[in-house]
Amino acid sequence: MKTEKVECLIIGSGPAGYTAAIYTSRAGLKPVMYTGSQPGGQLMITNDVENYPGYPKGKKKKKMMEDFKNQALRFGSDIRFGMATKVDFSGPTHKVVIDDNIEISSDCIIIATGASAKWLGIESETRLNGKGVSACAVCDGFFFKNQEVAIVGAGDTACEEASYLSKLCKKVYMIVRRDSMRASIIMQERVKNTPNIEICWNSETDEILGSEEVEGVRLFNNKTKEKREIKVSGFFVAIGHQPNTEIFKGWIDMDESGYIKTIPGTSKTNIQGVFACGDAQDHIYRQAVTAAGSGCMAALDGERYLAANGHN
Ligand code: NDP
Repeated sequence: MKTEKVECLIIGSGPAGYTAAIYTSRAGLKPVMYTGSQPGGQLMITNDVENYPGYPKGKKKKKMMEDFKNQALRFGSDIRFGMATKVDFSGPTHKVVIDDNIEISSDCIIIATGASAKWLGIESETRLNGKGVSACAVCDGFFFKNQEVAIVGAGDTACEEASYLSKLCKKVYMIVRRDSMRASIIMQERVKNTPNIEICWNSETDEILGSEEVEGVRLFNNKTKEKREIKVSGFFVAIGHQPNTEIFKGWIDMDESGYIKTIPGTSKTNIQGVFACGDAQDHIYRQAVTAAGSGCMAALDGERYLAANGHN
Protein backbone atom coordinates (compact mmCIF):
# COMPACT_ATOMS: atom_id res chain seq x y z
CA MET A 1 0.00 0.00 0.00
CA LYS A 2 1.22 3.52 -0.83
CA THR A 3 1.91 5.78 2.14
CA GLU A 4 2.02 9.55 2.52
CA LYS A 5 2.60 11.87 5.47
CA VAL A 6 0.66 15.11 5.63
CA GLU A 7 0.53 17.86 8.20
CA CYS A 8 -3.23 18.00 8.51
CA LEU A 9 -5.85 15.63 7.11
CA ILE A 10 -9.49 16.62 6.73
CA ILE A 11 -12.04 13.89 6.10
CA GLY A 12 -15.25 15.16 4.51
CA SER A 13 -16.23 18.09 2.32
CA GLY A 14 -19.38 19.74 3.64
CA PRO A 15 -19.41 23.24 5.12
CA ALA A 16 -17.50 21.96 8.19
CA GLY A 17 -14.72 20.33 6.17
CA TYR A 18 -14.29 23.23 3.78
CA THR A 19 -14.23 25.77 6.59
CA ALA A 20 -11.58 23.69 8.37
CA ALA A 21 -9.65 23.64 5.06
CA ILE A 22 -9.89 27.41 4.64
CA TYR A 23 -8.60 28.05 8.16
CA THR A 24 -5.84 25.43 8.20
CA SER A 25 -4.58 26.39 4.74
CA ARG A 26 -4.47 30.07 5.71
CA ALA A 27 -2.49 28.98 8.78
CA GLY A 28 0.04 27.32 6.45
CA LEU A 29 -0.76 23.72 7.43
CA LYS A 30 -1.15 22.57 3.80
CA PRO A 31 -4.25 20.50 4.59
CA VAL A 32 -5.16 17.51 2.50
CA MET A 33 -8.89 16.91 2.24
CA TYR A 34 -10.60 13.74 1.09
CA THR A 35 -14.08 14.62 -0.07
CA GLY A 36 -15.97 11.38 0.53
CA SER A 37 -18.48 10.02 -1.95
CA GLN A 38 -20.63 13.16 -2.01
CA PRO A 39 -18.36 16.18 -2.46
CA GLY A 40 -20.14 19.15 -0.94
CA GLY A 41 -21.91 16.98 1.61
CA GLN A 42 -25.57 17.06 2.56
CA LEU A 43 -26.10 20.57 1.29
CA MET A 44 -25.96 19.14 -2.21
CA ILE A 45 -29.34 17.52 -1.63
CA THR A 46 -31.18 20.65 -0.52
CA ASN A 47 -32.71 23.32 -2.76
CA ASP A 48 -31.41 26.86 -2.72
CA VAL A 49 -29.72 27.93 0.48
CA GLU A 50 -31.39 31.05 1.86
CA ASN A 51 -30.38 31.00 5.50
CA TYR A 52 -26.61 31.23 5.18
CA PRO A 53 -25.54 34.72 6.27
CA GLY A 54 -23.81 36.79 3.63
CA TYR A 55 -26.01 35.68 0.74
CA PRO A 56 -28.95 38.10 0.87
CA LYS A 57 -30.45 36.68 -2.32
CA GLY A 58 -29.85 33.06 -1.40
CA LYS A 59 -27.51 30.80 -3.28
CA LYS A 60 -27.79 27.74 -5.49
CA LYS A 61 -26.57 24.81 -3.43
CA LYS A 62 -23.92 23.68 -5.93
CA LYS A 63 -22.62 27.21 -6.42
CA MET A 64 -22.32 27.70 -2.70
CA MET A 65 -20.25 24.58 -2.25
CA GLU A 66 -18.11 25.56 -5.25
CA ASP A 67 -17.48 28.88 -3.51
CA PHE A 68 -16.46 27.04 -0.33
CA LYS A 69 -14.16 24.82 -2.36
CA ASN A 70 -12.58 27.66 -4.34
CA GLN A 71 -11.94 29.58 -1.16
CA ALA A 72 -10.16 26.55 0.31
CA LEU A 73 -8.17 26.03 -2.93
CA ARG A 74 -7.11 29.67 -3.01
CA PHE A 75 -5.02 29.19 0.12
CA GLY A 76 -3.47 25.93 -1.00
CA SER A 77 -5.76 23.18 0.30
CA ASP A 78 -5.14 19.91 -1.49
CA ILE A 79 -8.63 18.57 -2.24
CA ARG A 80 -8.88 14.99 -3.41
CA PHE A 81 -11.76 12.67 -4.23
CA GLY A 82 -11.72 9.57 -2.04
CA MET A 83 -13.32 7.75 0.87
CA ALA A 84 -11.67 7.04 4.19
CA THR A 85 -12.12 3.30 4.61
CA LYS A 86 -10.10 2.48 7.74
CA VAL A 87 -8.36 4.31 10.56
CA ASP A 88 -5.71 3.47 13.12
CA PHE A 89 -5.47 5.95 15.96
CA SER A 90 -3.27 3.79 18.19
CA GLY A 91 -0.04 5.74 17.84
CA PRO A 92 1.00 9.36 18.24
CA THR A 93 0.78 9.67 14.45
CA HIS A 94 -2.65 8.75 13.16
CA LYS A 95 -3.24 6.65 10.09
CA VAL A 96 -6.16 6.81 7.69
CA VAL A 97 -6.57 4.50 4.71
CA ILE A 98 -8.24 5.99 1.65
CA ASP A 99 -10.13 3.78 -0.81
CA ASP A 100 -8.24 0.79 0.59
CA ASN A 101 -5.15 1.78 -1.40
CA ILE A 102 -3.29 4.66 0.20
CA GLU A 103 -2.39 5.16 3.85
CA ILE A 104 -2.19 8.78 4.94
CA SER A 105 -0.51 9.51 8.23
CA SER A 106 -0.89 12.77 10.08
CA ASP A 107 -0.58 14.20 13.58
CA CYS A 108 -3.74 16.22 13.05
CA ILE A 109 -6.97 14.69 11.78
CA ILE A 110 -10.17 16.66 11.36
CA ILE A 111 -13.29 14.53 11.04
CA ALA A 112 -16.04 16.28 9.08
CA THR A 113 -17.86 13.27 7.68
CA GLY A 114 -21.36 14.59 8.41
CA ALA A 115 -24.57 12.66 8.81
CA SER A 116 -26.93 11.27 6.23
CA ALA A 117 -30.68 11.67 6.38
CA LYS A 118 -32.56 8.41 6.42
CA TRP A 119 -34.98 8.02 3.55
CA LEU A 120 -38.06 5.87 3.02
CA GLY A 121 -36.47 4.20 0.04
CA ILE A 122 -39.36 4.44 -2.42
CA GLU A 123 -38.85 5.28 -6.08
CA SER A 124 -40.96 8.48 -6.12
CA GLU A 125 -38.98 9.87 -3.18
CA THR A 126 -35.70 9.56 -5.11
CA ARG A 127 -37.19 10.86 -8.35
CA LEU A 128 -38.70 13.97 -6.72
CA ASN A 129 -35.79 14.72 -4.40
CA GLY A 130 -35.12 18.46 -4.57
CA LYS A 131 -38.41 18.88 -6.49
CA GLY A 132 -40.57 19.09 -3.39
CA VAL A 133 -39.04 16.20 -1.45
CA SER A 134 -36.69 17.32 1.31
CA ALA A 135 -35.13 16.00 4.51
CA CYS A 136 -34.75 19.42 6.12
CA ALA A 137 -37.72 21.60 7.04
CA VAL A 138 -35.55 24.43 8.34
CA CYS A 139 -33.67 24.52 5.02
CA ASP A 140 -36.58 24.14 2.65
CA GLY A 141 -39.82 24.94 4.52
CA PHE A 142 -39.79 28.53 3.36
CA PHE A 143 -40.22 27.43 -0.27
CA PHE A 144 -43.67 26.13 0.68
CA LYS A 145 -44.96 29.22 2.42
CA ASN A 146 -48.79 29.25 2.56
CA GLN A 147 -48.94 25.88 0.85
CA GLU A 148 -49.92 22.43 2.09
CA VAL A 149 -47.16 19.97 2.95
CA ALA A 150 -46.67 16.53 4.49
CA ILE A 151 -44.02 15.28 6.87
CA VAL A 152 -43.19 11.66 7.69
CA GLY A 153 -41.93 10.59 11.10
CA ALA A 154 -43.00 10.57 14.73
CA GLY A 155 -39.82 11.33 16.65
CA ASP A 156 -38.72 14.62 18.19
CA THR A 157 -37.30 15.81 14.87
CA ALA A 158 -40.57 15.21 13.02
CA CYS A 159 -42.54 16.99 15.75
CA GLU A 160 -40.14 19.90 15.83
CA GLU A 161 -40.15 20.21 12.05
CA ALA A 162 -43.95 19.83 11.85
CA SER A 163 -44.30 22.70 14.35
CA TYR A 164 -41.83 24.76 12.34
CA LEU A 165 -43.71 24.08 9.10
CA SER A 166 -47.09 24.83 10.71
CA LYS A 167 -45.99 28.43 11.20
CA LEU A 168 -45.14 28.83 7.52
CA CYS A 169 -47.56 26.58 5.73
CA LYS A 170 -51.32 26.54 5.39
CA LYS A 171 -51.58 22.92 6.50
CA VAL A 172 -49.23 20.17 7.58
CA TYR A 173 -50.11 16.47 7.34
CA MET A 174 -48.00 14.43 9.71
CA ILE A 175 -47.66 10.85 8.52
CA VAL A 176 -47.20 8.46 11.45
CA ARG A 177 -46.82 4.76 10.78
CA ARG A 178 -48.12 3.54 14.16
CA ASP A 179 -50.96 4.59 16.48
CA SER A 180 -48.53 6.38 18.78
CA MET A 181 -45.46 8.56 18.54
CA ARG A 182 -41.93 8.03 19.72
CA ALA A 183 -41.40 11.73 20.42
CA SER A 184 -41.28 13.17 23.94
CA ILE A 185 -44.73 13.91 25.37
CA ILE A 186 -44.24 17.66 25.32
CA MET A 187 -43.36 17.61 21.61
CA GLN A 188 -46.32 15.34 20.84
CA GLU A 189 -48.68 17.64 22.72
CA ARG A 190 -47.38 20.59 20.75
CA VAL A 191 -48.24 19.06 17.39
CA LYS A 192 -51.53 17.62 18.63
CA ASN A 193 -52.58 21.08 19.80
CA THR A 194 -51.64 22.87 16.60
CA PRO A 195 -54.84 23.43 14.59
CA ASN A 196 -53.23 23.28 11.14
CA ILE A 197 -51.40 19.98 11.78
CA GLU A 198 -53.41 16.90 10.89
CA ILE A 199 -51.91 13.67 12.18
CA CYS A 200 -52.49 10.69 9.88
CA TRP A 201 -52.12 7.72 12.25
CA ASN A 202 -51.25 4.19 11.10
CA SER A 203 -50.28 5.66 7.78
CA GLU A 204 -47.53 4.71 5.38
CA THR A 205 -46.43 6.51 2.26
CA ASP A 206 -47.54 4.43 -0.69
CA GLU A 207 -46.33 6.89 -3.29
CA ILE A 208 -45.42 10.55 -3.67
CA LEU A 209 -47.46 11.84 -6.58
CA GLY A 210 -46.29 14.15 -9.37
CA SER A 211 -44.09 13.83 -12.43
CA GLU A 212 -41.97 17.02 -12.40
CA GLU A 213 -42.68 18.14 -8.83
CA VAL A 214 -44.57 16.97 -5.78
CA GLU A 215 -48.33 17.26 -6.25
CA GLY A 216 -49.62 14.94 -3.56
CA VAL A 217 -49.14 11.77 -1.55
CA ARG A 218 -51.00 8.47 -1.60
CA LEU A 219 -51.25 7.11 1.93
CA PHE A 220 -51.90 3.55 2.96
CA ASN A 221 -53.62 2.95 6.28
CA ASN A 222 -52.12 -0.24 7.68
CA LYS A 223 -55.11 -0.79 10.03
CA THR A 224 -58.05 -0.24 7.68
CA LYS A 225 -56.01 -1.18 4.54
CA GLU A 226 -57.53 1.84 2.83
CA LYS A 227 -55.67 4.20 0.51
CA ARG A 228 -56.17 7.94 0.52
CA GLU A 229 -54.68 10.76 -1.54
CA ILE A 230 -53.77 14.15 -0.11
CA LYS A 231 -52.76 17.21 -2.12
CA VAL A 232 -49.44 18.70 -1.02
CA SER A 233 -46.61 20.51 -2.76
CA GLY A 234 -43.88 19.64 -0.24
CA PHE A 235 -42.95 16.29 1.26
CA PHE A 236 -40.58 16.23 4.21
CA VAL A 237 -38.87 13.12 5.50
CA ALA A 238 -37.92 13.27 9.20
CA ILE A 239 -37.27 9.68 10.15
CA GLY A 240 -33.82 10.19 11.62
CA HIS A 241 -30.23 10.73 10.60
CA GLN A 242 -27.25 8.43 10.56
CA PRO A 243 -23.90 10.00 11.40
CA ASN A 244 -21.19 8.86 8.99
CA THR A 245 -18.88 7.67 11.73
CA GLU A 246 -18.81 3.89 11.29
CA ILE A 247 -15.07 3.70 10.54
CA PHE A 248 -14.20 5.52 13.78
CA LYS A 249 -16.05 3.07 16.02
CA GLY A 250 -13.78 1.53 18.62
CA TRP A 251 -11.39 4.50 18.45
CA ILE A 252 -13.46 7.59 19.06
CA ASP A 253 -16.00 7.99 21.87
CA MET A 254 -19.54 8.30 20.53
CA ASP A 255 -23.05 8.46 21.90
CA GLU A 256 -25.46 5.56 21.43
CA SER A 257 -26.55 6.88 18.01
CA GLY A 258 -22.98 7.11 16.72
CA TYR A 259 -22.49 10.89 17.04
CA ILE A 260 -18.91 11.71 18.02
CA LYS A 261 -18.49 13.08 21.51
CA THR A 262 -16.42 16.24 21.73
CA ILE A 263 -15.25 18.00 24.86
CA PRO A 264 -17.93 20.69 25.36
CA GLY A 265 -16.98 24.02 23.84
CA THR A 266 -14.21 22.45 21.73
CA SER A 267 -13.80 20.09 18.78
CA LYS A 268 -11.50 17.77 20.74
CA THR A 269 -12.27 14.06 20.82
CA ASN A 270 -10.96 11.47 23.27
CA ILE A 271 -7.91 11.00 21.00
CA GLN A 272 -5.21 13.65 21.05
CA GLY A 273 -4.81 15.25 17.64
CA VAL A 274 -8.20 14.05 16.36
CA PHE A 275 -10.88 16.71 16.10
CA ALA A 276 -14.50 16.48 15.01
CA CYS A 277 -16.81 19.08 13.54
CA GLY A 278 -20.10 19.39 11.67
CA ASP A 279 -23.00 16.98 11.77
CA ALA A 280 -20.80 13.98 12.66
CA GLN A 281 -20.79 15.44 16.18
CA ASP A 282 -23.99 17.50 16.17
CA HIS A 283 -27.45 15.96 16.19
CA ILE A 284 -29.12 19.10 17.44
CA TYR A 285 -28.48 22.07 15.14
CA ARG A 286 -27.41 20.43 11.86
CA GLN A 287 -27.20 23.69 9.91
CA ALA A 288 -24.64 24.70 7.29
CA VAL A 289 -23.71 27.74 9.32
CA THR A 290 -23.26 25.83 12.59
CA ALA A 291 -21.25 23.16 10.75
CA ALA A 292 -19.03 25.86 9.26
CA GLY A 293 -18.56 27.41 12.71
CA SER A 294 -17.51 24.09 14.19
CA GLY A 295 -15.13 23.52 11.23
CA CYS A 296 -13.43 26.76 12.20
CA MET A 297 -13.15 25.50 15.80
CA ALA A 298 -11.59 22.23 14.63
CA ALA A 299 -9.05 24.09 12.50
CA LEU A 300 -8.03 26.37 15.37
CA ASP A 301 -7.89 23.46 17.84
CA GLY A 302 -5.78 21.48 15.33
CA GLU A 303 -3.45 24.39 14.65
CA ARG A 304 -2.89 24.97 18.38
CA TYR A 305 -2.37 21.27 19.00
CA LEU A 306 0.30 21.08 16.31
CA ALA A 307 2.01 24.24 17.59
CA ALA A 308 2.04 22.87 21.14
CA ASN A 309 3.57 19.64 19.89
CA GLY A 310 6.52 21.09 18.10
CA HIS A 311 5.17 21.75 14.60
CA ASN A 312 6.02 25.14 13.16
P1 NDP B 1 -35.90 8.99 16.00
O1 NDP B 1 -35.11 7.80 15.66
O2 NDP B 1 -36.14 9.33 17.43
O3 NDP B 1 -37.35 8.85 15.35
C1 NDP B 1 -37.52 8.42 14.05
C2 NDP B 1 -39.02 8.38 13.75
O4 NDP B 1 -39.17 8.07 12.39
C3 NDP B 1 -39.78 7.36 14.56
O5 NDP B 1 -41.03 7.87 14.94
C4 NDP B 1 -39.95 6.22 13.57
O6 NDP B 1 -41.16 5.50 13.74
C5 NDP B 1 -40.05 6.96 12.27
N1 NDP B 1 -39.63 6.14 11.16
C6 NDP B 1 -38.46 5.48 11.01
N2 NDP B 1 -38.43 4.84 9.83
C7 NDP B 1 -39.61 5.10 9.23
C8 NDP B 1 -40.19 4.72 8.00
N3 NDP B 1 -39.52 3.95 7.12
N4 NDP B 1 -41.43 5.16 7.71
C9 NDP B 1 -42.10 5.95 8.56
N5 NDP B 1 -41.62 6.34 9.75
C10 NDP B 1 -40.38 5.92 10.07
O7 NDP B 1 -35.21 10.18 15.18
P2 NDP B 1 -35.27 11.77 15.42
O8 NDP B 1 -34.49 12.35 14.31
O9 NDP B 1 -36.65 12.23 15.61
O10 NDP B 1 -34.48 11.98 16.78
C11 NDP B 1 -33.14 11.54 16.95
C12 NDP B 1 -32.67 11.86 18.36
O11 NDP B 1 -32.54 13.27 18.51
C13 NDP B 1 -33.67 11.42 19.42
O12 NDP B 1 -32.97 10.99 20.55
C14 NDP B 1 -34.43 12.68 19.73
O13 NDP B 1 -35.00 12.68 21.03
C15 NDP B 1 -33.36 13.74 19.58
N6 NDP B 1 -33.93 15.04 19.24
C16 NDP B 1 -34.20 15.91 20.25
C17 NDP B 1 -34.77 17.12 19.98
C18 NDP B 1 -35.03 18.05 21.08
O14 NDP B 1 -34.91 17.67 22.22
N7 NDP B 1 -35.41 19.29 20.80
C19 NDP B 1 -35.10 17.55 18.61
C20 NDP B 1 -34.81 16.55 17.63
C21 NDP B 1 -34.25 15.35 17.95
P3 NDP B 1 -41.36 4.41 14.90
O15 NDP B 1 -41.54 5.20 16.17
O16 NDP B 1 -42.60 3.72 14.46
O17 NDP B 1 -40.16 3.54 14.89
